[in-house]
Amino acid sequence: MRLWIKDPLAVLARGAERGVVVEDGRIAELVPRGREPAAPVDRTFDAGRHVVLPGLVNTHHHFFQTLTRAHPAAINKALFPWLTALYPIWTRGMNPEAFRQATRLALTELMLSGCTCASDHQYFFPRGIEDAMDVQAEEAARVGIRMTLTRGSMNLSEKDGGLPPDAAVQDEDAILADCERVLGRYHDRAEGAMLQVALAPCAPFTVTRRLMTESVDMAERHDCRLHTHLGETLDEDAFCLERYGMRPVDYLEDVGWMNPRVWLAHGIHFNDDEVRRLGRARVGICHCPTSNMVLASGRCRTRDLEAAGSPIGLGVDGSASNDNSNLMESVRHALMLNRLTYGATSVTHFDAFRWATEGSSRCLGREDIGSVAPGKQADLALYDLDELRFSGAGDPLAALVLCGAHRADRVMVKGAWTVEDGRPLTIDVEKLRREHGAAAKAFLARL
Ligand SMILES: [Zn+2]
Repeated sequence: MRLWIKDPLAVLARGAERGVVVEDGRIAELVPRGREPAAPVDRTFDAGRHVVLPGLVNTHHHFFQTLTRAHPAAINKALFPWLTALYPIWTRGMNPEAFRQATRLALTELMLSGCTCASDHQYFFPRGIEDAMDVQAEEAARVGIRMTLTRGSMNLSEKDGGLPPDAAVQDEDAILADCERVLGRYHDRAEGAMLQVALAPCAPFTVTRRLMTESVDMAERHDCRLHTHLGETLDEDAFCLERYGMRPVDYLEDVGWMNPRVWLAHGIHFNDDEVRRLGRARVGICHCPTSNMVLASGRCRTRDLEAAGSPIGLGVDGSASNDNSNLMESVRHALMLNRLTYGATSVTHFDAFRWATEGSSRCLGREDIGSVAPGKQADLALYDLDELRFSGAGDPLAALVLCGAHRADRVMVKGAWTVEDGRPLTIDVEKLRREHGAAAKAFLARL
């Protein structure tokens, strides 16, 4: 079936003024101004109301945190006190039903904002949700979104000098055994994969050195990506200096993670030499502008890192520090925050789009998604400009960012529509809101 997405208001691609032809889950051709598709089409979708983007790609999240948004114990705090306020709540409250609802809700929220490929840094495996990665694989299939299952881990608790409580961590053997199992079951390295797996020890202050080195070895064996939090706060610098006798980037190098398989969440507190070294090693950085502003963690040196050679991706971060899962909103925040850092002419909406699409795809190690080009997977997000906030807008692509688009009217994953008229085809939104709300209430009542 050849589908022509015809005559959009604008499209984030060169030579596609008359739209895009989709066939067999891929983008078959771009139709330039004044031309028709090269071969006959079976169907036409009139995109005259729509601005077309490549599907957005989210490279950092913690889905389970949708259960503790705007939690009274955690609001108005910086990262370490924020974490120590929430760890006991997450540990005591988590249960299989709440975890499943949180996953479904976060994936649906992401998709409605225009995201077609998500990763979730799932580092939390308290008793009862040891099968968290299986739940996430099932829910991604239900929602109809691509996912990099990011098997996180914590094994350094308070009793060993780490930050999380003892009940929040797993032992190293259990972690490594589940990583092997999840890689064997879900890691699809083929073009167009709907599921891939990455390994993701949580942060320097929550995992041991040995788990970091074992994870690199396993990633090499299975050819998968590696992810962790790094350079988020100055507290982390102090922790690393005290425990490891070195700064976080030196520690990263020491455990073998200065490696192009790696993408880091946040990546804020790097000096010039560290930026150069990370860039030379092609280590990716997931910029999380919303979370960085909420927790006042600092500003990522996106342009410097990119110039040094690092891919820059975009992430919403967990829903207790954002507190939503709207990736399009993060595109806007990325533009605004980086303008504050680099000036009004140095960062444009094209930079913010690039981070959320091509940059994020590079962080996840994928070449088959992230742009509207022949041969790429047909993952698209279509936004209309019909809301009041867009009335009077001139440049349609700039308007998405400057006027604050927050909801895709249509979303396509692998050539199939998953959202139409702003509603997911796979999920009953009202029912999800009810069930997730009830699960969150029950979760908090367990405390
Ligand atoms: Zn995070």
